[in-house]
Amino acid sequence: MGAVRTPLIAGNWKMNLDHLQAVAFVQKLHWTLKDAKHEDGSVEVAVFPPFTDLRTVQTLLDADKIPFALGAQDLSPKDSGAYTGDISGAFLAKLDARYVIIGHSERREYHHETDEVVASKVQAALRHGLVPVICVGETAEDLEKYGASAVPVGQLKTALADVPADADIVVAYEPVWAIGSGQAATPDQAQDVCAKLRAVVAESLSADAAERTRVLYGGSVKAANIASFMREPDVDGALVGGASLVVDEFAAIIRYQK
Ligand code: PGA
Repeated sequence: MGAVRTPLIAGNWKMNLDHLQAVAFVQKLHWTLKDAKHEDGSVEVAVFPPFTDLRTVQTLLDADKIPFALGAQDLSPKDSGAYTGDISGAFLAKLDARYVIIGHSERREYHHETDEVVASKVQAALRHGLVPVICVGETAEDLEKYGASAVPVGQLKTALADVPADADIVVAYEPVWAIGSGQAATPDQAQDVCAKLRAVVAESLSADAAERTRVLYGGSVKAANIASFMREPDVDGALVGGASLVVDEFAAIIRYQK
């Protein structure tokens, strides 16, 4: 099954690295990865800088022909208008962003994004030809009350309610208790929930979509544990936070060997 999906290693920088630091970081990462397998397309690498870095990073990727995809960390559910502080998917598409993270647990927690808001942002991304990286995951409290999969499965069902069967999406399973905690899920736990999320894609979109959609694991991924996740049949990559900010660590994650 895994063979049809190109693994995706995605670096979510969160609110780190200004545009000058971003240039230095991307150049160093590219240099460190020279001859690595992402250069031949067997692994896709994507970086998700803050909005203020996007233009600078895009220019650098273009000028130096660096094969990283560009993504944003959020977008507005609206396309334009009186929404102070918001960023339209149209602007992101103009910057050649390919991906946009939607529904990260930090947005859900600090900006009170509901499953319905997440669903409307997914629609906005698709309207502008962006690939939504839809984040779902349970808190420690949810885990205790409902087990691992009930909350992420419910979140994904709502997010995909009106998504067409041929849409290009990425799903990221990120248990909230694993994010930034140093305590990753076990590969078994990740596999179990990722398989259930793939089943939601099959139900909501189509069997074909489930076959080609990348389902990522995120939460304390590092060089030392990436291979154990990538060995799982339903884990197609990783959404990496803290470890994506350290060039050698992120490069080692990209170079994982199963
Ligand atoms: P982490 O964050 O790798 O620092 O745990 C992951 C994420 O929030 O996407």
